[in-house]
Amino acid sequence: MSTNVIDSLLIDVQRLQDAILNGLSEGVYFVDKNRRILFWNKAAEELTGYSATQVLGRSCADGILMHVDETGKCLCEDGCPLEGAMQDGLPCQAHVFLHHADGHRVPVHVRGSAIYDSQGEIVGSVEVFSDDSDRVGVMTRLKQLEQIALLDELTGLANRRYFNRAFAACLATFERDAMPFGLLMIDIDHFKKINDTYGHDIGDAILRLVAQTLAGNCRAYDTPVRWGGEEFAVLSENVDEDTLYSIAERARILIGQSSYALDGESLSVNVSIGASIARTDDNLEAIIKRADANLYSSKRNGRNQTTIDRTSQSCLNA
Ligand code: GH3
Ligand code: MG
Ligand code: MG
Repeated sequence: MSTNVIDSLLIDVQRLQDAILNGLSEGVYFVDKNRRILFWNKAAEELTGYSATQVLGRSCADGILMHVDETGKCLCEDGCPLEGAMQDGLPCQAHVFLHHADGHRVPVHVRGSAIYDSQGEIVGSVEVFSDDSDRVGVMTRLKQLEQIALLDELTGLANRRYFNRAFAACLATFERDAMPFGLLMIDIDHFKKINDTYGHDIGDAILRLVAQTLAGNCRAYDTPVRWGGEEFAVLSENVDEDTLYSIAERARILIGQSSYALDGESLSVNVSIGASIARTDDNLEAIIKRADANLYSSKRNGRNQTTIDRTSQSCLNA
């Protein structure tokens, strides 16, 4: 619509802009040159859990979104898409993981563009971001499980009963179509200390946090499961060793980068992971035994790491 038409209709341009920006399903926010947040739309509230009143006037690097990349590197000082757009005026985009107000990490695709004043000077930048996860697919599947008592109550992940069914289906597909699958066994490091220091309820909250980050960062082919206690598993279809290893590493790094806010303190946990790919003539006990043995190696070698079987040269870890 041209400016003339807007003028002739006496449209309130500010309200029009707000209606458009708040109607988008993508998160949008603007920052000034100091990266202070000037605008925060409704979708940004939904995707991040932070309301506009909580963030306006604050810097996005100031304990809010704290984007990290896949290796867990914080991008606020080096690699910020908004800063990049302000420096050279060129649009930039990246796949990053933002810090949700609840503490877990959410994968997002972000696009940063410079904002200019009427003299053509860069005065800030705008970020448009969208949920990059298979969360909808994973969550829809989990929702279906709720009705048939296959969900773990505390974390909302699938439970062991569901795992057993899903495993049988994976094994049948593997035997019939040679579609490879793998298993991750994940155990929180030193979790007892969390319970002992902060109490069982905070321990429960940390279990939910780990589950959220895990579920939000899995592929549609992966089924995250609460194995029991402070242990989780992921049944991962359509993988090779390298892919399984990167799924495990991504989960490990992002869980370590998630944090639970408690009275100004920021609580985080790490996980150790054992991974194994299904082999011909495999069965449930055999693959669990291998993944468990690898998990034990990760613990023994210092925790906060992934160990996977080496069955081919391309594998990244012993
Ligand atoms: P490691 O690094 O060797 O795994 O040490 P850890 O402390 O994590 O392992 P350990 O097996 O000694 O302790 C696990 C703790 O997890 C003990 C148990 O009380 C706690 N736990 C198990 N289930 C739950 C639960 O549902 N909620 C809470 N809050 N704690 C749980
Ligand atoms: Mg354990
Ligand atoms: Mg543990």
